[in-house]
Amino acid sequence: MTLQSILPSYVRGAWWTPETEEGAVEVRDASTGALVTQVSTRGLDLSRVLDYARTVGQASLGKLTFHQRAMLLKQMAQPLTERKDELYALSSRAGATKADSWVDIDGGIGVLFTYSSKGRRELPNAQVYVDGPVENLSKDGSFLGQHVYTRLPGVAVQINAFNFPVWGSLEKFAPAFLAGVPTVVKPATPTGYVAEGFVRILVESGLLPDGSLQLISGSVPDLFDHLRLGDLVGFTGSASTAEKLRAHDSVQTGGVRFTSETDSINASVLGADAVPGSAEFDGYVKQLVVELTSKAGQKCTAIRRALVPTPLVDDVISAVQARIDERVVVGDPRAEGVTMGPLASHEQRDEVLRQVLRLVDAGGEVVIGALDEPSILKADGSRGTAPEGAFVAPLVLRFTDAEADALHTVEAFGPVASILGYSDTADAARLVARGGGSLVTSVATHDTTIARDLVMGLAPYNGRVLVLDRDDARTSTGHGSPVPHLVHGGPGRAGGGEELGGIRAVLHHMQRTAVQGSPEMLTAITGVWHRGAAANDAAPHPFRKSLATLKIGDQLSSEPREVTLDDIEHFAEFTGDKFYAHMNEEAAAANPFFPGRVAHGYLLVSFAAGLFVDPDVGPVLANSGLENLRFVTPVSPGDSIRVALTAKQITPRETDDYGEVRWDALITNQDDAVVATYDVLTLVAKS
Ligand code: NAP
Repeated sequence: MTLQSILPSYVRGAWWTPETEEGAVEVRDASTGALVTQVSTRGLDLSRVLDYARTVGQASLGKLTFHQRAMLLKQMAQPLTERKDELYALSSRAGATKADSWVDIDGGIGVLFTYSSKGRRELPNAQVYVDGPVENLSKDGSFLGQHVYTRLPGVAVQINAFNFPVWGSLEKFAPAFLAGVPTVVKPATPTGYVAEGFVRILVESGLLPDGSLQLISGSVPDLFDHLRLGDLVGFTGSASTAEKLRAHDSVQTGGVRFTSETDSINASVLGADAVPGSAEFDGYVKQLVVELTSKAGQKCTAIRRALVPTPLVDDVISAVQARIDERVVVGDPRAEGVTMGPLASHEQRDEVLRQVLRLVDAGGEVVIGALDEPSILKADGSRGTAPEGAFVAPLVLRFTDAEADALHTVEAFGPVASILGYSDTADAARLVARGGGSLVTSVATHDTTIARDLVMGLAPYNGRVLVLDRDDARTSTGHGSPVPHLVHGGPGRAGGGEELGGIRAVLHHMQRTAVQGSPEMLTAITGVWHRGAAANDAAPHPFRKSLATLKIGDQLSSEPREVTLDDIEHFAEFTGDKFYAHMNEEAAAANPFFPGRVAHGYLLVSFAAGLFVDPDVGPVLANSGLENLRFVTPVSPGDSIRVALTAKQITPRETDDYGEVRWDALITNQDDAVVATYDVLTLVAKS
């Protein structure tokens, strides 16, 4: 990819560059200082960009269902995978080693795959998401309440930090896209050209629905003046910028939804059992060095505080030093063998060194590394200092005073960690909490009591807690890696956000509303049949209908069937389930729930299947499960049951010639009392 002298933005369906270079900010190669490109938004009409998303983007995404959007996310992963070498080349200019780029680029592509598959498994093939069970608000069932999620009508503005230009964007873009909300992505200036690279690939793929993704290359200080109710902002960056943006009127009183993932003083705790020589001690040291050096420590999740039982502090320092000596090669990521690159820019290097000095002033002693210009491996294979690059050696500080404020509040956003001693698990949890809310804390222990005590103490102050031991060391995704399945974000200083986190991140881009009305109305609005709405039990049997003809509300009402004592005994013999409530009249009657011997719940569910199934070969392909099964009224020998089976929700699959039909099953007795309720899940052919 050749970069233009001014990095373009992609807005209103076209590439845009300012007419003049005046005022443009230079962006330089992190290792060599060579000019990479410039960024500027001079002359860009932000309000038109946002309006384009709110109109064209909303309209094109609004035509698609959750599943159709999910399929597109998967398809987008394809051109990004095919052209990822181009992104790797750009990323190395920003100081990222191959391993760092892998996290950013392959990690970002992985997010698309994860959201694609979660979207198709956990969301309906529809546009409304029904949240939780219906609430019956009237005696006769004619007035119901149902929570539903509908997409926000505005634009999702995603403001990103410089450290993960690809992953950081895609982690927010994927859930916004799935929700049906168009994105305007605003990468950070120093690495915006890497984000431009992935946006260019997506634009060239032709897969983006019009207006679903726009890119602003350059600063946008007045962005918030143009936002309004229905828009949302996902911010990643420093706590100080977040604080400023959150204070804007558009957020405070204008109804703009704002979440932030900010810096956090994350911790890693070595359990008292994890003595030198144990797998947990080794895992702890290994992880500390990884977090110190990967992405040159420019990770919001990196370990800033290493909490170690006081008697083990020296052992940990020696082991970390040995591992750094053995494993870490600082240099230009384009040189063979380099394991840690420079920081993203000179500004970042200067800022990190400034923060390290604050830590030193607060009592931190540099015990590994030094603040001088390090000797590095250059792209031509030579060694020496490289002041033109933004290099900093891995630095570890020791604090003898674990209470020093700076230790728990100062973030040096680079290869910097502090080691401090603690006395017992309560002390460790208390010290972690001094960080004021973190993204992640990890615990290295094989002792379940220590693990439980620590996690209970740590969880309220962390978005994620990882327990590392010999059993998961090999498969653990690591302290520093948020995964798209789980919440990424944390309380307090960490910003309180949750950009990642599976379907909850999608719902974050939607509004939850309690809709009240009759069963008929709620059925029409949600596309999910509600008990009490009209049902059609005319022939043919609903199992004779493919998805082409089946409608929600299609129903089978069975004949009654008597349940006899013989049936119960036969079932008990046949299955081996001779629980006393079915077999022992006296013991059953003494049980607070039963009048005497009663039928097995599983027998009733099986009889119900016998009552509703149409046996012949037809469009129903398989029973894929039952959900929400509740046994309500016991059935005594001599009672009779009947079942009503009603098509409740129809979810055609985008890529298969079948889909899922969810049936409402209601078993009642001879007095019309509810015996059992559940959902039957089936796979049904499309034609
Ligand atoms: P930053 O200086 O706070 O900038 C973050 C983003 O905000 C950049 O894109 C920046 O754009 C933009 N921005 C600044 N002022 C703005 C305004 N008035 N309106 C709209 N956008 C504005 O942070 P950074 O230096 O890029 O990133 C480093 C920090 O991010 C570290 O503290 C790190 O801990 C944190 N971080 C947190 C996470 C997380 O998930 N929690 C992840 C990564 C990084 P410009 O570049 O154009 O100014």
